[in-house]
Amino acid sequence: MRFVPHAADGAPRSLRTWFVVHAKGVVARRAEAGEPALRFPDDDEITQLGLQAGDAHRLGALDDTDALAIPLDGPVPSPFEVFGFRELAALVDAELFGVVGRAFHTCDWLTTHRFCGRCGARTEPLRSERCLVCPACALHIYPRISPAIITLVRKGDLALLASNAKFPGAFYSTLAGFADIGESLEETLAREVEEEVGVKVTNIRYFGSQPWPFPNSLMIAFTAEWASGEIVVDGAEISDAKWFSADALPMIPPRLSIARRLIDAWVAEVSDR
Ligand SMILES: [Zn+2]
Repeated sequence: MRFVPHAADGAPRSLRTWFVVHAKGVVARRAEAGEPALRFPDDDEITQLGLQAGDAHRLGALDDTDALAIPLDGPVPSPFEVFGFRELAALVDAELFGVVGRAFHTCDWLTTHRFCGRCGARTEPLRSERCLVCPACALHIYPRISPAIITLVRKGDLALLASNAKFPGAFYSTLAGFADIGESLEETLAREVEEEVGVKVTNIRYFGSQPWPFPNSLMIAFTAEWASGEIVVDGAEISDAKWFSADALPMIPPRLSIARRLIDAWVAEVSDR
């Protein structure tokens, strides 16, 4: 599978792959024998779902098809189902997961900017680039991308992993949080770690990044080292946090997440010694 992203212009292809985005996930049906794990709706099925092809946004080329994203507000009729991103991560490969993510992010942007935030007129897509424009006051509205840090904090060979208060005990992961206005990412990291678990950190190092479009984040991953403080969880976002050793890990996040890559890289490093 090969995906080539591009903006809304360029010659349309005759074959299309539809990514229909519902509030809870992407609409697809489970495959029959011999097919890939999921089958996305075809042109006829788009009509049956009550959708208008003209409301779609072109994401790019997926193999020899146009990849199109379109939001769906209404019910999802059988045999179609809605697949959330955690379920998707177990069913599709990294490349397709990335394309579905683009569809999620695009539809979040389209559905939250139907009207101009400045004057209230209905917005229209600009054909030359990925942008909505207000025909009344000319406001240009680009997709919102929300930067968030994610970090694995180490203390010697141990790593700090925390359980989210929304999913207590489900799994333990690295700490994360959104950048605030006026912050550098290093400042965001230090603030979030101290707010969530009461620990100060040092030696912040860039690790990598990953779009996390549920609905519109870009995760920027770092490693950091413990500097001072005992773990005191905030009780609001974090229900529990502990120092773990690599040979006694709790349940950790699924593959395809940068949290998992951070944890796997640490485990590989300490296991090599
Ligand atoms: Zn306007």
